[in-house]
Amino acid sequence: MKTLYVEDLAASVAAALQQVSHTHPADFVAALRRARDRETQPAARGALEQLLVNSRMSREARRPVCQDTGIANVYLKLGVEVRLATKSGGAVPGLQDVIDDAVGRAYTDPANPLRATVVADPLGRRRNTRNNAPGLVHVELVAGDAIEVVVAAKGGGGDVKARYKVLTPSDSIVDWILNEIPTLGAGWCPPGVIGIGVGGAGPDETMRLAKEALYTPIDIESLLAKGAETPEESLRVELYQRINDLKIGAQGLGGDTTVLDVKVASAPCHAAMLPVALIPNCAATRFVRFSLDGTGPARFEAEDGAAWDDIPDQLSVPDGIRVDLRSLAKGDVAGWRRGQTLLLNGALLTARDAAHKRLHQMLERGDPLPVDLRDRVLFYVGPVDAVRDEVIGPAGPTTSARMDGYLDEMMGLGLLATVGKAERTQPAVDAIRRHRGAYLVAVGGAAYLASRCIVASRVVAFEDLGMEAIYEFEVRDFPVTVGVDATGASLHRYIPIRSEY
Ligand code: SF4
Repeated sequence: MKTLYVEDLAASVAAALQQVSHTHPADFVAALRRARDRETQPAARGALEQLLVNSRMSREARRPVCQDTGIANVYLKLGVEVRLATKSGGAVPGLQDVIDDAVGRAYTDPANPLRATVVADPLGRRRNTRNNAPGLVHVELVAGDAIEVVVAAKGGGGDVKARYKVLTPSDSIVDWILNEIPTLGAGWCPPGVIGIGVGGAGPDETMRLAKEALYTPIDIESLLAKGAETPEESLRVELYQRINDLKIGAQGLGGDTTVLDVKVASAPCHAAMLPVALIPNCAATRFVRFSLDGTGPARFEAEDGAAWDDIPDQLSVPDGIRVDLRSLAKGDVAGWRRGQTLLLNGALLTARDAAHKRLHQMLERGDPLPVDLRDRVLFYVGPVDAVRDEVIGPAGPTTSARMDGYLDEMMGLGLLATVGKAERTQPAVDAIRRHRGAYLVAVGGAAYLASRCIVASRVVAFEDLGMEAIYEFEVRDFPVTVGVDATGASLHRYIPIRSEY
């Protein structure tokens, strides 16, 4: 038996969560570069460039790549010859407690605080646990005297798009997946990796297969070069090519790369069934693998920076149209056209789910609103807390469609345009057309870059909502693409527009 200390496990998991928050895996960066270099569509190419610049900036600043810093997913392969102990010789806590302690430490690290996303009582008050615990912990007992660990921070936009279906053995997995992919929309912030689980003794195993498959290096180029040798590899190659042929593209803007790789894992299943699960990993792909062998906690030295060589450390958008938000009028907005790149300058208001709900309730009661939306632009965002000299922490867009039920009401108050990520629903597109407004797409997963465009910030209403309060940001050259213009033309043309979110 080999003795491993739970303190070393906790310290390693905490350090891993900090590491992945700001540093993409090098193979992911290399795949993003290839996608950018091949991209033929300007809007998608611009989004890929932003993701790359954001990746470099986040790594250098050691600040999160995305404002959704994810839920901690920890997979432990625990050798049966390992004896867990504490350094003090006291009672050994349960592994869930060990990991939760690590998650709490990582997410409240004062040098790089991460956004706490977990709510304790989903059917009750939905109280935020404030330190992002509990994490998801999966333990497998394996042969050996070491612990193999995968630590991932999984954003909500990917997991919310998970799919599961029990096909019959004669059904086509490819057909089912190609049918599902467009329905994911762009809320999972492509490009990323799709994990596919096939088989398994029950739905939980199929889903786990799909998710764990995501936590392996991107190697589709070498698979394409050598050729598929197994049914799993054949499925990977076919799906990689056919999903990208759908032309959904980076951020759903229409383009050549939607997936950087497709991973497939399979397991034995019931003879009468063909269960399949699909889970995306987004532009904020964050995971690391390490092993503990009793020699102390894992160390995460700075990765070789070669992956980021030649990526600029700030964004340049030579074809961007500068927009002065201080003098913006309805006529200006009505002149914007789908696909144009704008650089916003001036004051942006922010609001997301909770603020919209409260504004709506105030309108219903006939109460005066704390903000005047007339001739303003509203950014759907919930930033990370600032540290040191930051004006605001990473502040990327959230999924706009969640606010679609309120859009007509807000535009009726004189709101000119909104900024967020992914496609809108049909009623929202109709509202934009009716009010001659616009919807502007910011790049999901480029949150640190976005925060560097914000030069001043103040809370203007609902301070008690924390990161969901209404802020006024002063922005400088904040890059957005016209996603829906005043004619109702949408850039998300390869994604079916739904009637409701
Ligand atoms: S990149 Fe998009 S889906 Fe991923 S964590 Fe960030 S906002 Fe969520």
